[in-house]
Amino acid sequence: MIPQTNPKAAYLAQRDAIDAAIRRVLENGWYIQGEEVAAFERDFAAYADARHAVACASGTDALILALRALGIGPGDAVITVSHTAVATVAAIELAGATPVLVDTDEYWTMAPAALEAVLKDWPAGAPGPKAVIPVHLYGQPAAMPEIAAITERHGLILLEDNAQAHGATLNGRMVGHWGKAAAYSLYPTKNLGAIGDGGIVTTDNDGVADTLRALREYGWRERYISAIAGMNSRLDPLQAAILRVKLGALPADTERRRAIAARYSAGLAGLSGLGLPKIRAGAAPVYHLYVIDAGSRRNELQAKLKERGVGTLIHYPVPVHLQPAYLGRIALGPGGLPNTERAAKSVLSLPLFPQLPDADVDMVIAAVKAAWTS
Ligand SMILES: *Cc1c(COP(=O)(O)O)cnc(C)c1O
Repeated sequence: MIPQTNPKAAYLAQRDAIDAAIRRVLENGWYIQGEEVAAFERDFAAYADARHAVACASGTDALILALRALGIGPGDAVITVSHTAVATVAAIELAGATPVLVDTDEYWTMAPAALEAVLKDWPAGAPGPKAVIPVHLYGQPAAMPEIAAITERHGLILLEDNAQAHGATLNGRMVGHWGKAAAYSLYPTKNLGAIGDGGIVTTDNDGVADTLRALREYGWRERYISAIAGMNSRLDPLQAAILRVKLGALPADTERRRAIAARYSAGLAGLSGLGLPKIRAGAAPVYHLYVIDAGSRRNELQAKLKERGVGTLIHYPVPVHLQPAYLGRIALGPGGLPNTERAAKSVLSLPLFPQLPDADVDMVIAAVKAAWTS
């Protein structure tokens, strides 16, 4: 079976360096914060071309910490998409704010027109709009110039969910630079993945960075003195040491993801009715996922691929606003979210990870062609 993703292959590709990094931490005896975490933060800030990077325990926490550091909380509404990992929406509620969900465009990211529409028809008496979180889903940059123009016009804070888009660029500019901060996940299967949980926030704002550092560790600026009400959300030094090794491979891994995506797009071109990823003008996606649009034949295609030894996943099968925890409770943009609801029924993620050999990519292409035309 060719798996959709394979984090163990990423470990094996750098086994000696990762084993040495783990041993270094075990033997130096410093198991919370410290130099390994600080060094990873410096390395990641340099990679992301950001003034500051503040590591934490997960991508969800990165979003919560960023929202809190940006002054967003109870009484504020935060606009994001429903076609995303549930964590984007969960983080808004965990920060005490109210999520408002809008529809996506043909690139499966936040539709600027939907954002504009929800702001225009804002219900009287509802929590006021305070911030917008676009998600660079599947590693494809959202329509940032348009979204940033809208948030600027309405005086809203812009926070980017970069959990799937480490290193993606739009108009030559890395994602994470339109907003006041960007939140990344370091979950094992993400483009930069720990061997466990991790997250990191980038920002160019000194005050936001200072607040993030305090919030993630009991609100401390000085040991044992909580200057603000904080929490515990630290990245383990063990994970930081591993991530420093893996960050070194990220540029080459990204190029490999792009090469695999190009091979799929060439190999699958011309299959009638099968939608391939659309690339926004000026975008250089990082292909966290290679997602095809199989329309009403999605479930049938997934079953046939499984029979042929090809593993696939669905990102995501149920839009957040239709999930039991949120159903009927989350405010929607006008007219429901038809693109989001259609995506949940039609998307399929093909195998894609940097260690996937060309021979396997070709097997997947052959299997999709055979399944689609049978
Ligand atoms: C993975 C992910 C998150 C959450 O990250 P965790 O590290 O799992 O907490 C948030 N947003 C998006 C878009 C993600 O893909």
